Amino acid sequence: MNPQEKHQELLNRYTGILGKIQHYREMAGLAHWDMATYAPKAGKSIRSDALGTLSTEAFKMSVSTEMQSILTELSKEEHFNQLPEKYQKSVEKDIKHLEKFQKIPEDRYREYVILTSKAQNVWEKAKEENDFETFLPYLEKIVDFNREMAELLGYEGHPYNALLDRFEEGMTVEKLDSTFGELKEGIQTILTNIQGSSKTPNKRLESINLPAEKQKILSEKVLRKIGYDFESGRLDESVHPFTIGLNPKDVRVTTRYQEDFFKTALFGTIHEGGHGMYEQNIPMELFKTSVGTAASTGMHESQSRFWENVVGRSEAFWKGLLPEFREIFKEEITDITLEEMVEYINIVEPSMIRVEADELTYSLHIILRYELEKELIQGNIAAKDLPQLWNQKMAEIIGIKPKDNREGVLQDVHWAGGMFGYFPTYALGNVYALQLTEALKKDVTNFTAHMENQEFGPIKQWMVEKVHQRGNLRTAEELIKEITGDGLNVKPYLTYLDDKYRKVYEY
Ligand code: ZN
Repeated sequence: MNPQEKHQELLNRYTGILGKIQHYREMAGLAHWDMATYAPKAGKSIRSDALGTLSTEAFKMSVSTEMQSILTELSKEEHFNQLPEKYQKSVEKDIKHLEKFQKIPEDRYREYVILTSKAQNVWEKAKEENDFETFLPYLEKIVDFNREMAELLGYEGHPYNALLDRFEEGMTVEKLDSTFGELKEGIQTILTNIQGSSKTPNKRLESINLPAEKQKILSEKVLRKIGYDFESGRLDESVHPFTIGLNPKDVRVTTRYQEDFFKTALFGTIHEGGHGMYEQNIPMELFKTSVGTAASTGMHESQSRFWENVVGRSEAFWKGLLPEFREIFKEEITDITLEEMVEYINIVEPSMIRVEADELTYSLHIILRYELEKELIQGNIAAKDLPQLWNQKMAEIIGIKPKDNREGVLQDVHWAGGMFGYFPTYALGNVYALQLTEALKKDVTNFTAHMENQEFGPIKQWMVEKVHQRGNLRTAEELIKEITGDGLNVKPYLTYLDDKYRKVYEY
């Protein structure tokens, strides 16, 4: 073989293995989607095993000696220099992944997959029965494993940085402490202003039931409007709404209909639609490379929060949508005004449950979890003390105290799933979303008019070009810098919140 043929052969081996990993992940994803939507209940635990095997195989391939030898060859100058950018970045990412995750023994990984899978079932029951003690031994093991994993993966500074990096490359406790500190203070100030205001938003809509079939019509309509592509996607129902990108041409979203609370389905659908559009618009050229993904979990969340909150909860959006809303629900509501709707969807009320929190207090729920997680991973606090610490922090940060663990420490599945380091990305999504909005408004100058006219094309197109098309060729940090010229900055988000609530609550 001449050098050129040798190079081509090597690249083929690389793309071959990436393709195979994608196939395993795609089928694991499909199995997961099926379990969450239509699979019969009794078959689910058997399906879990199949899912575990598929995920483990994909993981094994990504850290295999075959992969290692391909990457070692490809990173040599004579090969690396003639690779297109997407493969160069992909090789760099895979080397980083391999070097880190090779340190985790395969049997420990498998043990962990089984532990977290069992723990999720135990958690579900423990939550139902308000029984933290049953869940505790599992949680202790999961925390220990995560601490062990942080040591194996390696880090600079705080051990939690190793776990954060899995979801938000380059993010650190140092950066989060300052960002979240500023965010917490800013939100608490707005909350104090709202609580001091004499204005009480109209809650008439709370007492009106809207049939699920009609809510479904509205959800589909709104998804189509904002630019979610039904040719490459579908909308189904699940207990916990989610988005899954099996490949860029098959990106599925789910929602949940609550007849006495239409905000759940509508805003949940728009939220998942934002995630879905990101996945649908990652370029096909990047498919089957390791940069054919979102820039980070936080950047993914910026897309869902942008559409859900910046667009979906704005007055301009409802100015355009309200006539259609009235038409769909003409048997249920006849006289709803724009002002009433905007007030209703922007009510602020500190509450116990994160997923039901309003837009303002949501990030406070995240900051609470972040503060506990980093202390747990550093070993400053123990899992057994969590219920008490949780309640104490709720009172401190949000000003209310849970009556039991069900509406406290047991409410989220993330810890049972071992997802330490994930929560912060939810709040980062809010921050990124408003940094992006500021930049977007400079290019799409008639942003408000577009929303009033329900013309979302130019808005979506801007996100596609600036964010989606870049895949993971840039980290979130690099991307936000490239688009806005600024690093992570909470000011645009705080300004947006203050402007909005000042109007709604007249403080
Ligand atoms: Zn989301």
